[in-house]
Amino acid sequence: MTSSDSTTLTAVERKALRTEQAAAQRAQQLRISKSRAEAEGRSQVIPTAEGWKQEMGADGRPELQFSTKRRVSQPPKHLADLTLAERQAELKALGLPAFRAKQLSTHYFQHYTTDPEKMSDLPKERREELVQAMFPKLLTEVKRLETDDGKTIKFLWRLFDGSLVESVLMRYPNRITLCISSQCGCGMNCPFCATGQAGLTRNMSTAEILDQIVQANRVIAEGGLGGQKHPDERVGNIVFMGMGEPLANYKRVMNAVHRMVAEAPEGLGMSARGITVSTVGLVPAIRKLADENVPVTFALSLHAPDDELRDELIPVNSRWKVDEALDAAYDYYVKTGRRVSIEYALIKDMNDHEWRAEMLAKKLNARGRGWVHVNPIPLNPVPGSIWTRSESDITSKFVRRLDELGVPTTLRDTRGKEIDGACGQLAADGDK
Ligand code: SF4
Repeated sequence: MTSSDSTTLTAVERKALRTEQAAAQRAQQLRISKSRAEAEGRSQVIPTAEGWKQEMGADGRPELQFSTKRRVSQPPKHLADLTLAERQAELKALGLPAFRAKQLSTHYFQHYTTDPEKMSDLPKERREELVQAMFPKLLTEVKRLETDDGKTIKFLWRLFDGSLVESVLMRYPNRITLCISSQCGCGMNCPFCATGQAGLTRNMSTAEILDQIVQANRVIAEGGLGGQKHPDERVGNIVFMGMGEPLANYKRVMNAVHRMVAEAPEGLGMSARGITVSTVGLVPAIRKLADENVPVTFALSLHAPDDELRDELIPVNSRWKVDEALDAAYDYYVKTGRRVSIEYALIKDMNDHEWRAEMLAKKLNARGRGWVHVNPIPLNPVPGSIWTRSESDITSKFVRRLDELGVPTTLRDTRGKEIDGACGQLAADGDK
């Protein structure tokens, strides 16, 4: 059919044609992947959603959702949504002097409390009112699951509108890390992901993002995280690898990052280097992040070096291809001097072929040396599913090949695998 023919088609016919063309292109891409795997004596498992149906867009490819489909309300304003100057203005409007803003901020960001009884430096008769105005309840704990002798805790939180999100707190020998969520649901529609199944409900607010850290710090201070304890312990590392695509909620995520690194009492006084912002590859947002002048660690969840597979595995790849995402990641390194992390979940017979390790090394090395570090992570074992971890000898081979080709590579462990499978699983189960 010619393009002039297609202009005479109805909208329904055009959609059917696009779907047909997309299917033909996908079939061709998958043939390429299969023949490369066969040349290595391996098979090629094709990514497909199991037990649920991926929403397809008008172009016949998995639908991407960058904003909510309908207008949604945000939670009430909280102290952590505001800069210190804005908090001072807010208190002034309530007829209180500016220094009260610092006192309230200290209670929240340093003592992790919103309990008026504990705010003895504030006028007794105004405490309740102030707490109500500045600290509306954002996160309500629904479930807490512990593993690794209590050194890993997964929290399920209910938000003001009933949305459920998760965070995971992990104690390592020399640090405490918190994996946080940035959106309720996610619009990136990855076929392996529990979070993506229901689409995007809404963006989390700045304060909702931050409150996950404050709540975790409170649990640590109360001795709730297993292992060796120290009275001044708190979360030192943040990874944006919970629910949602952080760069799709750019403004609120960046406000939260600014508050994390702001000195107390304006913020948490954390080191930017301990904060990892990850993305599946929203290229314009990666470029914006590089211009922020906040030296956070940047992680690209790549999971495949070839567009043939990545189009299927990470649907946003149909918008920004592997090379575009790698170029943006490299430019992030050039602008910030911060080495970039490439996340690569090793999935059995899907993306763990030797030729893929070679292609990945080639693409990374073509952009320079010393700018990147690859973190292969064996997926959690899921018996009977196509979404299961690579065999250990295949994993070793993959890592070795990257090493041999001069790419710094560290095999990561998967914390909390006894708790459940993929990210978002708890929220998908609800509060059963
Ligand atoms: S894997 Fe990440 S980006 Fe993909 S749907 Fe899940 S939460 Fe979103």
